[in-house]
Amino acid sequence: MFVLDRKNYEKEGSEPYKDVYYTGLIAHELVHTYFNAVTEEHCEPIWTSEGIARYLAGENSYEERPKRFSKFLNFFNSSMNNEVYHESRYAVELLIKKYGKTKFIKLIKQFPTITSKNIFNKLFKKIYGFNASYTNFNKLLD
Ligand SMILES: [Zn+2]
Repeated sequence: MFVLDRKNYEKEGSEPYKDVYYTGLIAHELVHTYFNAVTEEHCEPIWTSEGIARYLAGENSYEERPKRFSKFLNFFNSSMNNEVYHESRYAVELLIKKYGKTKFIKLIKQFPTITSKNIFNKLFKKIYGFNASYTNFNKLLD
């Protein structure tokens, strides 16, 4: 929160100040606010909420695309690491670019009903027509 004050960015944050990072940070937090409102604060699987926040913050414009997906789906409600962030934002970008915003919003609007990975997987398949698996996400990369 304190990092939102531009003067404190370097002191409170972990990287040197750059406009692209600063505006990205603001966008990231706004996306979380919107996401929380739409999902009634149900943010699982976390790869969707972090993925959309990081994608819309523009991080894919300066970060390398993953060669293969192999970790982000395990990121349902556990703590995070950079690798998962990295895969998550590309996975979300691919879903939105290939299938549109409407489907993604339809998916997240159902989040208050998701109480397990199994329920999420069924919902995902109903909306996208394929299983949320690494095999299928890797096909989107090709
Ligand atoms: Zn975040």
